Amino acid sequence: MKRKTRIISTLGPAITSSEALKEMILAGVDVFRFNMSHAQADWCRDIAVRIRSIADDCDRRVGLLFDLQGPSIRTGDLEENWTLSVGDIVEFRKAEAEPSTKYSTTVNYEELMNDVQADKMLVVDNGGILMYIQEVTDERITCRVDTASEMTSRRHINLPGTRLNLPAMTDKDKVDLTLAVELGADFVAGSFVRDAAHVEEIRSFMVNLGGNADIVSKIEDQEGVKNIESIIEASDVIMVARGDLGIEVAVEELPIVQRRIVRLCHEKSCRVIVATHMLESMIESPTPTRAEVTDIANAVFEQADAIMLSGETTIGKYPVECVKTMDRISRRMEQARPLDFAKNAELFTDKKRTIKSAVSLANSTEGAHILVFTRKGTVANLVALMRPEVENIFAFAETEEVCRKLKLSRGVTSFPIKFEERTHETLIKAINLLLEKGLVQKGDPIVVVSDSMQQTYTVDSILFHHV
Ligand code: PGA
Ligand code: MN
Repeated sequence: MKRKTRIISTLGPAITSSEALKEMILAGVDVFRFNMSHAQADWCRDIAVRIRSIADDCDRRVGLLFDLQGPSIRTGDLEENWTLSVGDIVEFRKAEAEPSTKYSTTVNYEELMNDVQADKMLVVDNGGILMYIQEVTDERITCRVDTASEMTSRRHINLPGTRLNLPAMTDKDKVDLTLAVELGADFVAGSFVRDAAHVEEIRSFMVNLGGNADIVSKIEDQEGVKNIESIIEASDVIMVARGDLGIEVAVEELPIVQRRIVRLCHEKSCRVIVATHMLESMIESPTPTRAEVTDIANAVFEQADAIMLSGETTIGKYPVECVKTMDRISRRMEQARPLDFAKNAELFTDKKRTIKSAVSLANSTEGAHILVFTRKGTVANLVALMRPEVENIFAFAETEEVCRKLKLSRGVTSFPIKFEERTHETLIKAINLLLEKGLVQKGDPIVVVSDSMQQTYTVDSILFHHV
C-alpha cells in the first residue's frame, strides 16, 4: 500500500550532505522545509539545487517549503548567564533605559511595554522559564520568576493570551521571502499568523516579486486560533505549529485545538500540517516512545495531510529512521480506519458537489482509481480533500511546478504531461503512462475528473471508464 499522509522534513546540519539528502528522499520525504530562523542564504541556494538534482536522479519529486521566521520577540545579550530562583525579580527594559535591578536585559521589540499588562504570564526560552508580570511602565516590564532556571542571551519570549501589535513580516522576512522566490519555493510559511490580513500581506509581497508559492499559515498563538476561520480562507495550507502553540495555550487545550483546526480545514477544503515534537525523543534515540507513536497515529487518524519533523532531522542522530518510523506508522494507520468523509457532504458547496459525485462513484466501485486532469492543481486538491477511499489519485498537470505543489496533497501521485487539443487523446496518453509504469492494469475501473477544458477551473467532466 502506498502512503497517503505526507512527510515534511526540516533541513539542517544532520542531513546536509548529498548522501544524507538522498537517503532522506528514498526513505519518503515529500517536502523539505528551510527554517529561515537559522538557514543562511548561500546554504539554502546550495541545498535547493542539490535537492532538485538528487530527486531527479532518484526519479522522485520533492517540494520546497521556506518557513519565514516571523516577528519573534527576543531578550538581549547578557554579560553572563543568570541562575534564576523562584521569586527573583527580572526586568525587560527599553535599550535607552538604565538597569534598575540585578537581572535586567533589553528586548528587540520596543513596543512590548505598550502591549502587556500586569498579572499576565511571560514565558522565556521556549517554555523553559515562567514569569508573571508585576509592573509595566513606559520604559520597563518587571517580572517575578516562577520556575528556577538558567537564562542565557537572546532567548525567545512568549506571551500567552496577550494580543501583540507585531507586524506580519519583519525586514528579515522580506529578504528571506525574496530568496524563496529566487529559489522557486513551492510553499512559503508565515510564522505567528494572527489574522487573514497577515496572509494577504505575505502573499501580495510575494506576488510582487513574481512568486506564486502556496502560502502556509502557521497557527502558533491564541490570536491565530481565534481568527482561524478567516485565516483558513486566506491560506492554501494551515500548520498546527504545536511548538509555540503549546506554550501560548494551556497544554491540555492543545489536542482540542489541534482537532478543531484539522477538522475546520477539512470542512473548508484546506490542506493541514501537524507539526513539532512528533518524534522528539528520536533526536537522541533510535526508537520512538509509545506516546510519540500514538501521537503520529492520531494525526493520521484525524487525516492531517502532512506531518512534520523539525529538530529530529535538523540536528538529530537518526533523521532517516525518523522518516521511516513516520512512514510505517502512517501506512498502518491509513489501513486501520474506514474513511467516513462522505458524511461531510452537507458541508460541501455547490461548486464541490460534482467532485463529490466523482468521489462517491469511485468509492463505490471496487478497485477504482481516480484520474484528475488539472491546470493549477485546484481540482486535484479538492478531490484529495474529500478523502476518497481509493488507493490512488493520479493527477496530471502540464507543469512540474503544479506537480510539486501537489506534494502536500494527501494520496495524490502526480505526473506532468502535455494536454492535447482533444481531451480523449490526453486521457489515452495518461492511461498509457500508468500502464507502462504498472500503476494500473488493463480492465481497471477509473473515474476521470477534469478541469482542463475551461479557464475557470471548475469541473468540466466526469467520466467512468475502464482502462
Ligand atoms: P518553528 O515553528 O519550528 O518555526 O518554531 C513550528 C512550531 O512552533 O511548532
Ligand atoms: Mn514556531
